[in-house]
Amino acid sequence: MRKIAHYVQGEALSVAGARTQPVFNPSLGAPQATLELGDGEVVARAVKSARLAQPEWAAVNPQRRARVMFEFKRLLEAHMDELAMMLAEEHGKVLADAKGELQRGIDIVEFCCGAPHLLKGEYSERVGPGIDVYSMRQPLGVVAGITPFNFPAMVPLWMLAPAIVCGNAFVLKPSERDPSVSQRLAELLIEAGLPPGILNIVQGDRVVVDALLDHPDIKAISFVGSTEIAQYVYERGAARGKRVQAMGGAKNHGVVMPDADLDQAVADIVGAAFGSAGERCMALPVVMPVGAATAEALRARLIDAIAGLRVGVSTDPQAQFGPVVSAPHKARVESYIQLGVDEGAELVVDGRGFSLQGYEAGYFLGPTFFDHVTPTMRSYQEEIFGPVLQMVRAASLDEAIRLVDQHPYGNGVAIFTRDGDTAREFASRIEVGMVGVNVPIPVPVAYHSFGGWKRSGFGDLNQYGMDGIRFYTRTKTVTQRWPTQAAGAEPADQSFHFPTMR
Ligand code: NAD
Repeated sequence: MRKIAHYVQGEALSVAGARTQPVFNPSLGAPQATLELGDGEVVARAVKSARLAQPEWAAVNPQRRARVMFEFKRLLEAHMDELAMMLAEEHGKVLADAKGELQRGIDIVEFCCGAPHLLKGEYSERVGPGIDVYSMRQPLGVVAGITPFNFPAMVPLWMLAPAIVCGNAFVLKPSERDPSVSQRLAELLIEAGLPPGILNIVQGDRVVVDALLDHPDIKAISFVGSTEIAQYVYERGAARGKRVQAMGGAKNHGVVMPDADLDQAVADIVGAAFGSAGERCMALPVVMPVGAATAEALRARLIDAIAGLRVGVSTDPQAQFGPVVSAPHKARVESYIQLGVDEGAELVVDGRGFSLQGYEAGYFLGPTFFDHVTPTMRSYQEEIFGPVLQMVRAASLDEAIRLVDQHPYGNGVAIFTRDGDTAREFASRIEVGMVGVNVPIPVPVAYHSFGGWKRSGFGDLNQYGMDGIRFYTRTKTVTQRWPTQAAGAEPADQSFHFPTMR
């Protein structure tokens, strides 16, 4: 069976006697590779390699660092089919979806091609007699990223592209469930001209995460995953003096106003709720119609649309979504469906028991739809992360806003309306980090930044865009005086008070 191990100093690294675990193909429900799990020693090797390589990389001028990104972008585009297939086979998402993920990752790389401009500092002339001030952005040194299973290419690219182009060395700990694509990204970056050691990959589980959090040479940690682990990473990393950004779980709402274009809203909601089998932190698992008439009209249309969905293996070009990632995750989603039933929600469409001929061992679930879900139900409060859509009815826009605001998560939200005033009011008041107006999955483009509020995000700076550049650099400000040589100029007096620019 194929073996996947680490990538350090520009080459594969395997350690004899290491712990291993299988990597599954979710469509087949069968192992397809063996993953070697790292430990503190592998982390130490990766960090040492990064620490030794980083100063020289930081000294390369930003235009040349950007050229590596230009070439990396070209290679990613050239290898799109191969990378999409790797994603589909380990994650289970369908190929078109995998290509969409890759494209959003490539967009970040493209943004990073602008590094010479993005890294420019600031300069103020003559802030005092003979005094000028300038600020510059300098890299942090060695930084690390820990990524989730659901975007095995895009989320690593959110982190490693800005980190590297800013002059840092990066250590990546990918998800142990779909680790292959990260290895390929590293190879392509080396091919693009990145010096060995600037991107190292340590595969593994919590053992590697803890070793990264505790390593004194790692200056910053970027994390994306579930909320519990995000909070743990944030607290443990910060306690060790590191800069940490930690994105967590989500439960995004789609508020549907009575004046919305219902056919368009249904198409958007079904795609956003069930695409990628609901395994997106920007999925739309809660639909919230405003008013009983909107709810009834929406319900009828949703039932029709769901009946027409096609679930299939990840390589089936007709399939709209594939299996969930693993057998335990399938069981977890099923247990939430049962919980919804037990809590008294109306199970309108039950996706359990779905089986695909010839792929009976695959981790498939059909689409599930609940109506009359209420805000106190645990199945509503918690993230399910599967192809399950819950309808929560609101009587008014105010009630909808209150319910969204009371929800513990605040990653994304969407409103469907034709009324500009309603949309504007909603976008301004809502306690959520990313808002869509008639846009079901409002993942910001590469030159804005991505981040949720409340229990969806810990730390101050968001992913990618200018926040990505800020996160991976620190500002140094120089105040300089060059005494004037002009005839008659007096030397400055001794001064014991706090300096001011009078
Ligand atoms: P996860 O939290 O299980 O794993 C994320 C990373 O943390 C992995 O690399 C994993 O190895 C590591 N990890 C897992 N358990 C750990 C532990 N006990 N101690 C230390 N490290 C540990 O998340 P996942 O299941 O891979 O991904 C799905 C989750 O990620 C969902 O909750 C989803 O909403 C969230 N997510 C959030 C965003 C966002 O930007 N907000 C984006 C994508 C996914």
